[in-house]
Amino acid sequence: MNEISNSLVAADVAHSMHPYTNMRAHEANGPMIITRGEGVHVYDDKGKEYIEGMAGLWSVAVGFSETRLKDAAMKQMEALPYYHTFAHKAHEPSIRLAEKLAEMTPEGLDRCFFTNSGSEANDTVIKMVWYMNNALGRPEKKKFIARNKAYHGITIASGSLTGLPGNHRDFDLPAIPVTHVTTPHYWRFAEEGESEADFCARLLKEIEDTILAEGPETVAAFIGEPVMGAGGVMVPPEGYWEGVAAICKKHDILLVADEVICGFGRCGATFACEKFGFTPDILVLSKQISSSYMPLAAIMVTDAVYDAIADNSAKIGTFGHGFTGSGHPVATAVGLENLKIIEEKGLVANAAALEEAFIGGLHAAFDDHPLVGEVRGTGLIAGIELVAAKTAASAFDPAAKVGAKCADFAAEEGLISRAVGDVMALCPPLIITEAQINQIIERMGRALDRTLDWAK
Ligand code: PLP
Repeated sequence: MNEISNSLVAADVAHSMHPYTNMRAHEANGPMIITRGEGVHVYDDKGKEYIEGMAGLWSVAVGFSETRLKDAAMKQMEALPYYHTFAHKAHEPSIRLAEKLAEMTPEGLDRCFFTNSGSEANDTVIKMVWYMNNALGRPEKKKFIARNKAYHGITIASGSLTGLPGNHRDFDLPAIPVTHVTTPHYWRFAEEGESEADFCARLLKEIEDTILAEGPETVAAFIGEPVMGAGGVMVPPEGYWEGVAAICKKHDILLVADEVICGFGRCGATFACEKFGFTPDILVLSKQISSSYMPLAAIMVTDAVYDAIADNSAKIGTFGHGFTGSGHPVATAVGLENLKIIEEKGLVANAAALEEAFIGGLHAAFDDHPLVGEVRGTGLIAGIELVAAKTAASAFDPAAKVGAKCADFAAEEGLISRAVGDVMALCPPLIITEAQINQIIERMGRALDRTLDWAK
C-alpha cells in the first residue's frame, strides 16, 4: 500500500462511521478503498480490478464511467448549480424529468414528487397517504401492510415498513402502525407438500385476513417491492401481484410498488409492475433513475391521489412537505440524461435478453453445488442461497457468517457481490455483456468452492 492509502485508512478508521458496518470490526480491518471505475469494473487503491457484480448498491445501470452523465452534471453546474422547487419555483431539469417519468411509467401515474433517497421517498409516501386520508375525512385509515424481509429504507417511518430485524433492533422500530405478512418466497416458506399455487393462495388469504382483522377502514396501503431485493432477492410466485392488487381494490387500499431497485429495467421490463401484471396507485423510484451518480428518488402517483393531496393543500394553504434537494437541478439533469442513455442503448432489452445467460447460467453452474440450496432471480438480479445440506431447512448458523466469507472469497477472485445473510446477491450494471456474465459465474464458482472447503 502506498503512503496515501495508509493515511486514508488511518483517517477512515479514526473518523468515519460507516453505514451497515460492524464498527469495531472496521477499526480492526480498515476499509476497502475504491478509487476509480470503468464500465462494469471498479478498482481498489492497490490497482486490483473487480467486476462490480452489485452495480454499487443495485443502482449503477450505465456503468462506472459514463461521460455523458459527467457532462450533463457539468453543464448544469455551470448553468444553475442549485435551485429549489418550493413555493412555485421551478427549473428545467426537474420539469423535464417529471415529464419524462410520466411518459415512461405505466398509464395513470402522471404526477411526480422528488426526494434525495429511497428512504425519504417512502417516508413521503407514508405522509402523502396520511395527508390524503385525513383530507378525505377518514382519519382512522392509516395502517400499512408490508412483508417480512421487505426493504423500504431506514428512516423512522420507512424503516418501520422494512421487515428486517437488523433494521428494527435497538432502533425502537417499528414506530408507525404496520403489519408485516409472510415473505412471498416459495422455496423457503412453503409448507410440506404445498404447491406454488397453493402457497400463493395461502399468502393472499393471509393478506386479506390481516386486512379484515385490522378493519379495512383502518388500512391505508399495502407496500411491496415487486421483486424483493435487500432482504435476499425473492421473486414472488405466479399470480401473487395480481392477487394483491385485487385485494387492495376490493378493500379500497392503496397499492404502493417500491421499485427503488426494480425500476428502469432491472427485472427485464422497464418497470417490474408491468412484468408482474399490476398497476400501483403509487410508484417509488430511485437508484437506476440516475445510476446513483447523483442522489435522487421520485414518487409517481395517480390523479386520484394527487387530487386529494392538491385539494387539501389548497384548503390548508400549502403541502407542508419537501426537501432542500427535492428536484435538485444537477441530480435531475443527470437523471434525465441517464434515462436517455438507458433508452438509446436499449438497456432494458439487454437485461431481458441476458436473463437466460445470467439466471439460466447461474442455475446451470450452481443448482448441483453442495453449498447451494436455491438459485433464483429474474432479469439481471439474482440470489444464490447457501445452506448446509441442499434444503431450506438446513440453513447455516448465522453466527458462522458463511455468506460473508463467500463474499470475501468472491472479492479475492475479482467479483464484488453482496452477502445478505447467506444469500449471495448479484445485480450487475445493465450495460453488462454475456462474456462478462460468464466471468461473474466463473468467479462466483471459485468463491463457492473455496467457501465449501473453508466450511468443512
Ligand atoms: N426501497 C428499496 C426497495 C431499496 O432497495 C432501498 C435501498 O436499497 C430503499 C428503498 C432505500 O433507499 P435509500 O438507501 O436511497 O434510502
